[in-house]
Amino acid sequence: DPCCEAPLPVLGRDVTVPLVTGGEVTYAALDYAASAPALQRVWDDVAAYAPYYGSVHRGAGYLSQLSTDLFENSRTTVAEFLDCRPGDQVVFTRSTTDSLNLLARALPDGCQVFVFETEHHASLLPWQDACVTYLDAPRTPSQAVETLERALADRDPYGPALVCVTGASNVTGELWPVRELAAAAHAHGARIVLDAAQLAPHHPVSVTGLDVDWVAFSGHKLYAPFGSGVLAGRADWLQDADPYLAGGGASRTVARRADGGVDVEWHTTAARHEAGSPNVIGVYAIAAACKALTDAGFDRLVARERHLVEKVRTGLAGVPQVKVLSLFGDDAPRVGVLSFVVEGWNSSHFAAALSAEYGIGVRDGLFCAHPLVRTLLGSDPQDVGACGAPEARPGERSLNAIRVSFGAGTPDEHVDRFVGAVKELVRDGARWSYRTEDGRCVP
Ligand code: PMP
Repeated sequence: DPCCEAPLPVLGRDVTVPLVTGGEVTYAALDYAASAPALQRVWDDVAAYAPYYGSVHRGAGYLSQLSTDLFENSRTTVAEFLDCRPGDQVVFTRSTTDSLNLLARALPDGCQVFVFETEHHASLLPWQDACVTYLDAPRTPSQAVETLERALADRDPYGPALVCVTGASNVTGELWPVRELAAAAHAHGARIVLDAAQLAPHHPVSVTGLDVDWVAFSGHKLYAPFGSGVLAGRADWLQDADPYLAGGGASRTVARRADGGVDVEWHTTAARHEAGSPNVIGVYAIAAACKALTDAGFDRLVARERHLVEKVRTGLAGVPQVKVLSLFGDDAPRVGVLSFVVEGWNSSHFAAALSAEYGIGVRDGLFCAHPLVRTLLGSDPQDVGACGAPEARPGERSLNAIRVSFGAGTPDEHVDRFVGAVKELVRDGARWSYRTEDGRCVP
């Protein structure tokens, strides 16, 4: 019974925060979609390794050798976690944003890119230098596949093409039909990269099973600390491209030429795109997180999270003033990410009240997915919609939204407190006034 499973221990689970109403309360971190708290086990693994870390690929000393082994073994751990194909490469980056920008720089000449307008900016924007087609927001998963098929059918069938798609939306939490989109892409000779920033922390990702060509994700959303990310998948485009960064580590040999210039022979392994001293701790932490999630039993985590999603969904469904945002319908399968607006409330003020009066940390805004949130809210593309946006009065449209997100470390009490707080705020109105100062909402 998922209700009886305990959450995984995470950092910060005992942190208390002051309430504007007086007293203090344990912090309810309900902004996992921005950054999840690190698993205690990941932190402990990193702490155990920290005294031994050294420069990788460079030093002759014992600790450098040890660190190099751990760094390189981390690729294998990540490849196993993602169920990669033989021959796939795991490139360590700084984040999902970094991974997708890397891939954008590795596109073959003349590559066409297809991306839905509903993407996070990290997967929407890196393709601006390529020939990119933005696809309209679909209203069902099968419409997404049809839209993509139609766009691909019109393309030059002989040139290279790439589709970029999110696995789970950072706004609605909805799951996208990745396997079907991958099949459509391949049927038209295109490749596909999966933005798994929000999918990987909530759901096992199989590169082989989904048949995607690349996958990108971030450590700080996968229960590891900040600073590291992954791009994993096909080696060919990556190895044919210029190095993402020029420098040591990416180059095999460098020699002066007779004409005074320099000749460089670049690596053909993942190192080609990892110039400079790598983030050893960050990479070790990502691998530790992959192991911790696998050891915990990902299926159990998925079942428990589904139970939390249902609690939030049914709780909010009982508040008619709350409108949950969705592209594919309120009952569409989703990970632990939900955005909503509250009639008569400015979303920033609502989020500020949840923090100040209940110790609940959510996010408000447009979530780095401006076109999607504007589509969902039906707002004008010119509307700014940020903290301090005009108050939405009954019948008016909000310009931004509130997002609640959770995962493996979330106890039931946090989502119960959240649902209770929403009900109370809607019933009683704000007991404090919230205003905007320096872009921040304060009581
Ligand atoms: N894609 C999605 C779907 C995301 O939610 C995010 C982060 N909000 C990113 C990409 C970018 O991740 P990062 O900020 O770690 O680069």
